[in-house]
Amino acid sequence: MTLSIAKAIYLFLAIGWYIVRIPHERRSRRTPISRSARGGKERILLCISFTGLGILPFAYVAFGFPRFATYTFQPSLAWAGAAASAAALLLFYLTHRSLGRNWSVSLDVRESHKLVTDGVYTYVRHPMYSAFWLWAIAQALLLPNWIAGPAGLVGFGTLYLFRVSEEEKLMNEAFGHEYADYIKRTGRIIPRANRPRAPR
Ligand code: SAH
Repeated sequence: MTLSIAKAIYLFLAIGWYIVRIPHERRSRRTPISRSARGGKERILLCISFTGLGILPFAYVAFGFPRFATYTFQPSLAWAGAAASAAALLLFYLTHRSLGRNWSVSLDVRESHKLVTDGVYTYVRHPMYSAFWLWAIAQALLLPNWIAGPAGLVGFGTLYLFRVSEEEKLMNEAFGHEYADYIKRTGRIIPRANRPRAPR
């Protein structure tokens, strides 16, 4: 493992994520929204997350910026980062496949929105956010820079902290008891240890 390979893995992760997302972006434009919690706060959070997971690491990968914050590359950390990248990309793919036309970049409930509780959503109710956490961890392990590396943890962490309860409120308004029951048997981003069974 070399620094160039670690940087290439980060780029591969970003491009892979984009390829998984494109068809959902297109389809979501065609699916009408019936209820939304979008607003200025959501837009700011999306910008913060994009800066941390995209702009700052890209500036480091492409230009070595900011140079003063660079530290010695450690192959073992980068190997762990490669494993986290593979897990993140696989989980991204599975979550997009399960959510299908219910996916949104922001907080929306679409016309004929269905509560997805199968596939990876059987175990956790925010597996796409688990995948973003894995991305942020991968970035910190792959890029030996005190700013570009941890930027994803800070950027996505901010979005997660301020968004997740808003999203659960929105889902609760839209799905009531069904969502309340779903909360009881799932973890937020990590599966629960003692998981009650889904009603048949
Ligand atoms: N928080 C989820 C989804 C992120 S995409 C995850 O991490 O996997 C955000 C959109 O997904 C929101 O607009 C919300 O309406 C929708 N959503 C969240 N959980 C859902 C579920 N279980 N079923 C269907 N749609 C869901």
